[in-house]
Parts: sequence; structure tokens; C-alpha cells
Amino acid sequence: MNFTTSKKLHNEAKDHIVGGVNSPSRAYKGVGGGTPVYMKQGKGAYFWDVDGNKYIDFLGAYGPIITGHAHPHIAEAISHAAYNGVLYGTPTKLENTFAKMLKEAIPSLEKIRFVNSGTEAVMTTVRVARAYTGRDKVIKFSGCYHGHFDSVLVEAGSGPATLGTPDSAGIPETVAENVITIPFNDLASFKQAMEHWGDQIAAVLVEPLVGNFGIVEPKEGFLEGINTVAHDAGSLVIYDEVITSFRFTYGNAQQLYGVEPDMTAMGKIIGGGLPIGAYGGRADIMEHVAPLGAAYQAGTMSGNPASIAAGIACLEVLQEDGVYDELDRLGERLENGLLDKASESKIPVSINRKCGALTVYFGDETVENYEQADASNGEAFSQFFHLMLEQGINLAPSKFEAWFLTTEHTESDIDQTIEAAGKAFRAMAKR
Ligand code: PMP
Repeated sequence: MNFTTSKKLHNEAKDHIVGGVNSPSRAYKGVGGGTPVYMKQGKGAYFWDVDGNKYIDFLGAYGPIITGHAHPHIAEAISHAAYNGVLYGTPTKLENTFAKMLKEAIPSLEKIRFVNSGTEAVMTTVRVARAYTGRDKVIKFSGCYHGHFDSVLVEAGSGPATLGTPDSAGIPETVAENVITIPFNDLASFKQAMEHWGDQIAAVLVEPLVGNFGIVEPKEGFLEGINTVAHDAGSLVIYDEVITSFRFTYGNAQQLYGVEPDMTAMGKIIGGGLPIGAYGGRADIMEHVAPLGAAYQAGTMSGNPASIAAGIACLEVLQEDGVYDELDRLGERLENGLLDKASESKIPVSINRKCGALTVYFGDETVENYEQADASNGEAFSQFFHLMLEQGINLAPSKFEAWFLTTEHTESDIDQTIEAAGKAFRAMAKR
């Protein structure tokens, strides 16, 4: 494959844009470097780059793209918004429609507020929890990524872990002091932390089903345990469902496990590909937010008609019969195919999958927490990533990320991907 134009554009970008990218994971640091491919067009499950190469896309823009690129129903909604004005700075009827749709799908959202990114959504839930409880400390779990605001860049996963900088520079000690990080799926450690800090903990922040050190499900009883112990101590439970909203079912991960948090942060899929975030939860907590309460949060772009229209259109597509069954069926086919091909070449892999999202870890160990994900073979993943890219399969450039299927992937796309993986594994076995 020829990447000449991508290389040229990346050299140019580095003169103007810091690191040549507008989000660090895009720089291929997690896969041993190289030039990021510059995409030019996305349609359905496919991408075309600036050199004319075609790819099957499993990056899904890190999660938001579940109905494929340029889905006609969403494109029409965005186009309609474009011609009617994309930003009013006033309330709109669309916002009510969308809030009602979300509340119907996710009953724990008694009150909602729309924002513009996942980071904003999570950041505000933490502020509101602090306002509600009058406490400062937060417990989070190792390797879960919650965006890039100060409190959560303390031993974070995903991008920062890949870059080998778990703590960002520029974060005051006083902020880090208020964050306690413990291993995911380790209820005993959680209980210990709560015994020690319980009466100072404003909130426990967790990805109920992790997407940021790969796809990792909570062990049985883990989420229930968090709720019981946190509530006994007067602390709130916040679910970061930025990745998991509408990814595995028409609703959130909380619907899958039947456990409800006090507050939820969302993003990605609910914007149909446009920038969005939302947070919500118990009415008595949400009423601490301005203009009703003293916890301030605002946004010029919040609830803009384009993002809301795209979000509504996306959920309408996801309401169609059998969407999640089909994602699960194709996900299972992909998982089995990858496992078969890896074992034919004697490449040790372990795969975590939920519905149409999976992570391939290079190694024998089952992954249930960040430490195990981190121990998987990054060098092998880097080789695999580049071998797949050369065959027109676009994966997320990090061993910690997930492959995301869309409603537009077909059985033949999956089979082509399995064949490409077979070739990649054979090449790796020879090295
Ligand atoms: N929370 C989770 C679970 C995420 O995966 C992400 C983004 N990957 C965020 C928060 C931050 O969202 P955004 O990038 O939209 O700010």
C-alpha cells in the first residue's frame, strides 16, 4: 500500500498542529510510530484515504460510529439542521424530544443536561457530586479513562497509558490528593478504601463495563458491591457510560447488569457522530445544577440543534428490530474467526467481547483488570496493527482499545478481516 500523500500531509501538519494531531492517540505512538493515515471519506463500514486506499473500519472513531459512516438517515438530519441554523443559543423542542428518548431508554436519568463532550459530562458529574455531598474525594478505577480534566488524569488508561504518561504534567498535587485509584473488579480493595476514606468520598466513578483497557466486563457482584458500600457511606455512584451508552443494547450498560447509579455521564454514540455529551441522574441531585442550584455548568454549544438532531436520528436507527442481535452475531463470528486463525499460527491471544465490540490481547492471560491488559504484548499488537493496515483493515492504534462493529459491517467484511488476520498471524509467526 502506498501512503505517500498521508506522509506529506503529516509532515505539513507537524509544522502547524502540535504533534501533527488533534488528539494524541491518533499519532500511532501506541503502535511503535509511523505515519497516521489521513482519511478522506467514510461511507458505511469503509474508509478511503488520501492516497486512494480503501479500508474496512473497526475504529468507529473510538466508539461513536455505530451506524457506519455517513448513514443516510443521520446525514439527512444533519443536513436539515444545517439549513435551519445550527446554533440558536435558545432552548429548542428537539432537546425535549431527545431528553425524553434518553429517559425512556435509561430510567435512572430523572433529569438530564446536554453538554459537548464526554469529558465535560464526566467532569460535571464529579462537580455535582461534590456539591451534593459537601465532600471532595473521588474513587476511580485503574485504567478507566474518564476524559482529560484534572481529577481523572491521575493514573488514567487509554491514551495516557499508551503514551507511558499515566499522570499528566500540569495537575496540582492538591487535585491528585483528592483522587484514589484502585484496581477494577477488586471489590475487596474498594471496601478497604471505603473503610479508610468513606466519610470523605463524594463519589465513586466507574466505567460499569470498561472500554478503555479493552472491553472488560464487571465480575458478578462488583457493581452491586460498589452501590451498597458507597451508599452506606453516603457517597454517590457515577457511571461513566460515554462508550457504553447504546453500544451493547438500546440503553446503557446499567440496563445489561440491572444496577442503577445515582448519576450517569454519556457521550459518543448519542451524538450520531457530532460532538455531544450528556449527564443526568436522580432529580434531587441534578437539582443542585444551575440555574436551580449552586453547582455551575454552562455551554454555548450545549444542546445545539445539529448534534441533537444527529443523536435522535442515530437512536432511531438503533431502535430498528434486531440491530443488537446482528452486531452480536457478527461480533461472535469475528471473535471465533480471529481465535481460529491465531491458533493455526500458534500466536497466543485472548479476546474479550461484548456484542459488537471486542479487544484482542496478545498473550494467554484472561484480562479482568488494567494490570493484566497492560501485561499483554504491545510489540505483537504493533506488528499486527501494521500488518492489518497494509491489508486495508483499520484498527485503533493501541493495544488498549476496542474494535467496534457497526450496523453496516457485513458477513463478507468480517470474513475478509479474518482472512487478513490469518495472513498477519502467519507473518508474525515467521518473525
Ligand atoms: N469517558 C470514557 C469512558 C471515554 O471512553 C471517553 C473518551 N474516550 C471519555 C470519557 C471522554 O470523552 P471525550 O473524548 O468526548 O471528551
